[in-house]
Amino acid sequence: MIILDGKKLADKIRNELKAEVKMFDHVGLAVILVGDDDASRLYVSMKKKACEEAGIESFEIKLPSTVTEHELIAEVEKLNINNKVDGILVQLPLPKHINTAKIISVIDPKKDVDGFHHVNIGSLVAGMEDNCFVSCTPLGVIKLLEEYNIDPKGKNSVVVGASNIVGKPMASLLLNRNSTVDICHIYTQDLKSHTINADIIIVAVGKANLITADMIKNDAIVIDVGINKLPNGKIVGDVDFDEVSTKASYITPVPGGVGPMTIAMLLSNTVKSAKMRLSK
Ligand code: NAP
Repeated sequence: MIILDGKKLADKIRNELKAEVKMFDHVGLAVILVGDDDASRLYVSMKKKACEEAGIESFEIKLPSTVTEHELIAEVEKLNINNKVDGILVQLPLPKHINTAKIISVIDPKKDVDGFHHVNIGSLVAGMEDNCFVSCTPLGVIKLLEEYNIDPKGKNSVVVGASNIVGKPMASLLLNRNSTVDICHIYTQDLKSHTINADIIIVAVGKANLITADMIKNDAIVIDVGINKLPNGKIVGDVDFDEVSTKASYITPVPGGVGPMTIAMLLSNTVKSAKMRLSK
């Protein structure tokens, strides 16, 4: 069994990006943070630190949880026309009174480094990955598979979880690479009947121990996107790592697997945006 080391690959990518950023006059990423949710604040500070280390200027726009949809749209529109900003990221989740899809649709698709805008999602589904931004977490998973020479072509893949952010783009990326893809979600009956035949299993649900050893075949490749905090404070994924790792051929740890790749891909997408700006 081989551990897919996302931390090591993310460090390598971040070092390469740091060298690349030096060749630009300027690269900038703006992050909008609404409210004071602890997890969101933590994610934003991690992204800010990663930007600083790569030489990318980060702009943080903090807004109160009482901000109106109209005011938030106005902030996004200001960033859309700010030449110093290559990437715009609205930290999710947003307060309930704000329509998330509407806010994302206002971001200039050319600065949508999270890859959530419907124009970017459409391009991904159409197989035009080079000309769009792909959601950072699934893109990170693909880079991790590539690093270990795992080609999804011809393999049976199962994606568990069908969110717009992870599961759906993940399935499109695998399909674009000629994998046969099953997508499972909360209404899937008998999850095991899908996972047991999978060569590649990618789990992005948010439920500790959802995938157990009896649900996978020998030598399966297991990618755990989930992040769950147990009552004792321990951070685990969606896969029962101790058991499943005895049967899998490759597996990602949590932490240290997909998580670090997500941030590396955010920086990578921001540099891609700067390149696209310059090539115009
Ligand atoms: P999400 O929006 O809550 O989506 C979860 C998906 O799982 C939904 O499609 C949901 O279906 C489905 N689901 C729920 N219970 C299920 C079950 N028992 N069996 C099969 N499918 C089930 O979450 P997300 O944003 O995609 O994130 C998923 C997990 O990945 C979370 O733990 C999150 O923290 C983690 N995550 C990690 C990273 C990283 O960098 N490592 C990045 C993003 C997310 P319904 O919608 O029908 O309920």
